[in-house]
Amino acid sequence: MEDEECFYRLAIRDGSWTQIQKQEADTAQPGAVSLERWASALGAGESGIPVIDLEGKILLPGFVDAHMHLDKSFSLTSVDNLSGTLEEAVRNYSLASPSFSKDEIKSRIMRSSLQALSFGTTHIRTHLDFNLRASREVALRTIEAALEAKEALAPYIRLQLFPMCPYNFMALDVEAIEEALRMGVDGIGGAPHLSSTAKEDIDYMFQLAEKYDVPIDLHCDETDNPNMRTIEHISWKTKSEGYSGRVTVDHLCALASMTDHDAHGIIERMAEAGLKAVSLPAVNLYLQGRHDSFPVRRGVTRLKQIWEAGIPIAVASDNIHDPFHPFGRGDLMQIALIGSYAAHMGRPADLRTLLRMITDVPAEVLGLQAHSIKSGNEANFVVVDANTPEELFTLLPERRWVYSQGSWVRMAASKAEWQEPALAQFWKEASEQVSFHKHEFAKG
Ligand SMILES: [Zn+2]
Repeated sequence: MEDEECFYRLAIRDGSWTQIQKQEADTAQPGAVSLERWASALGAGESGIPVIDLEGKILLPGFVDAHMHLDKSFSLTSVDNLSGTLEEAVRNYSLASPSFSKDEIKSRIMRSSLQALSFGTTHIRTHLDFNLRASREVALRTIEAALEAKEALAPYIRLQLFPMCPYNFMALDVEAIEEALRMGVDGIGGAPHLSSTAKEDIDYMFQLAEKYDVPIDLHCDETDNPNMRTIEHISWKTKSEGYSGRVTVDHLCALASMTDHDAHGIIERMAEAGLKAVSLPAVNLYLQGRHDSFPVRRGVTRLKQIWEAGIPIAVASDNIHDPFHPFGRGDLMQIALIGSYAAHMGRPADLRTLLRMITDVPAEVLGLQAHSIKSGNEANFVVVDANTPEELFTLLPERRWVYSQGSWVRMAASKAEWQEPALAQFWKEASEQVSFHKHEFAKG
């Protein structure tokens, strides 16, 4: 997006970018075929090396979804949420989770990851249910399922796994969290604002993160209550422990309910602490404001102010077809559009910022060192059938070409039509295990 007046010539060898060069003039490349023709024939240029003319279509780094709940996706078939509140979603999901088998959880993770990949996402950080209140076995079952799914998907899409310490978890079997860390999860998560011992929980999570040398990613003040301010303790703790750059805070809905004066003070402290942030606009528009009568608060955090304070803030999917959010499809272009509505970001510069919020900013949140389109970096990218960001946001083109870890995984089909036989097989198996919630109306 740096210089939109220019076209670029990009070269890839062995799955890495080898050349990024501005085109001097609008000249067709010798031996080039259009992306469409090449995709249908999978042909190569005359030299044996495929040369493809993108005809001005936008090429972006692979989307990075910084916050999902893959293990919960497609669980709306068995877990309702009739009030539409976060409280009921949490309550109903924790009652139901002991009944989910490892295979079922793994299928849900596989299916939702592949769906995200089909839209152009090449990296995901997913939070994981860790229901210690049910039992250690239930909690670790989700971890095992996620580790298996992560390994199976590793050649195509990369997952980071963050188990969520349950609220008031220090009264529970805390050793089980250490077991999850030893099993190889990537970091530690939680939602301390739900806890009656929030400060102690946060301190203990820092202790564990330091012991296992992993990052922290917390659901933070996901409420319309302007006095919920676990963010203050997290900011202070991050600074005092020297953990800057390794702590991410998500949701931050309370900031949207505060006065400007209070919110500015908190955002300043977040910036000083070197926090990273993630907004989940679709889910917060859905879940927040449920206890208001009109006017109803929107729940989405202060996306623009946080960005303007220099804090890297991404927008991400959160939940797909589960009690927390009945919709969503793992498509970050859709999420960026919803973010645009929710945060009043529609000016040309805003659209370009939003595209960064689903690419290089979440790459920074995940700690990916080499995700940008730069010589020597791994070439993970998505080509979108649009010539400008304005066209992209207006049309959300279904037609996309996705290249990940050295191969084309999807070619512009309207539904996932996988180039890789293994992906086609994973998709079939995972899809057989998940279904959509259908309300049965009483007859008569
Ligand atoms: Zn979440």
